[in-house]
Amino acid sequence: MAILMDGKALAAETRKDISRRVAELDYQPSLAVIIVGNNPASRFYVNNKKKDCAECGIKSIEYALSEDTKESELLELIARLNADDELDGILVQLPLPKGIDEKAVIAAISPQKDVDAFHAENVGHIMLGDAALLPCTPAGVMRLLERYGIDPAGKECVVIGRSNIVGKPQAMLLLHRNATVTICHSRTRDLPEVTRRADIIVCAVGKVDFLRADMVRRGAVVIDVGMNTRADGSLTGDVDFAAVEPIASYITPAPGGVGPMTRVMLLENTLTAAKMRRKS
Ligand code: NAP
Repeated sequence: MAILMDGKALAAETRKDISRRVAELDYQPSLAVIIVGNNPASRFYVNNKKKDCAECGIKSIEYALSEDTKESELLELIARLNADDELDGILVQLPLPKGIDEKAVIAAISPQKDVDAFHAENVGHIMLGDAALLPCTPAGVMRLLERYGIDPAGKECVVIGRSNIVGKPQAMLLLHRNATVTICHSRTRDLPEVTRRADIIVCAVGKVDFLRADMVRRGAVVIDVGMNTRADGSLTGDVDFAAVEPIASYITPAPGGVGPMTRVMLLENTLTAAKMRRKS
């Protein structure tokens, strides 16, 4: 039986710690959250972000723009927020409606206020290993590993998925912790053969029951980043939990593992951005 890596509990503890650190400041860190259009999932995520900020004493300001917002209007708003000296972080909830170039929007955010750490300048710092702002999901995974005393140094780590927001930065963060890292994707030949070598597997694919027991070595650490909806509407990750849990040494539940850690790392980044900008 594997030890469950309880992201929900660690996130709650981290929020307490952030609240304490915010209370020590002589200003209130602030985050602008921009949502464009009526995507219900985006609305759900934005509401959660605002709730998390409120719990930790971070001021959140929502900018809800209509579905037919022009890219130029969004860029103008971002320029205004970049110049606002009272504002520490800017988050644009993705995906954006068709017709708005996400790359252009991300590039427009001041790297100092880029609390998602998606801007090319911040991505460069992740490569160099000297980033102050880290992408929330991979950073949350690293926190979970740390909390459970799992040191990636010298270990075989296999990251499944190569997206810019999860797979690639996750691989970099593990590499900086001296892991031997393999990145797999849809063109990987014989994926089970690769994953069976792994001491640590991070699965970020987006498919229900994707990681099966025959792909996992006994005693491996299994991190499930996936967030999927089953036909009955319930949420689940990428890992066939019932089959993999008995052979893993540590495993994240999904939901309740990586998701809450992703949420809390946004608060960490907002606090970091505030402290850097205000030199406090
Ligand atoms: P993404 O951009 O769709 O990337 C998925 C990756 O999976 C791609 O690199 C793709 O390979 C790879 N893949 C697809 N089919 C595969 C196969 N048969 N074998 C090997 N690799 C395969 O997704 P993402 O944004 O990284 O997110 C991944 C999952 O994590 C999603 O379920 C998402 O909802 C979830 N997520 C959760 C959190 C959280 O807080 N828990 C945060 C972010 C994302 P190619 O590149 O070759 O297409």
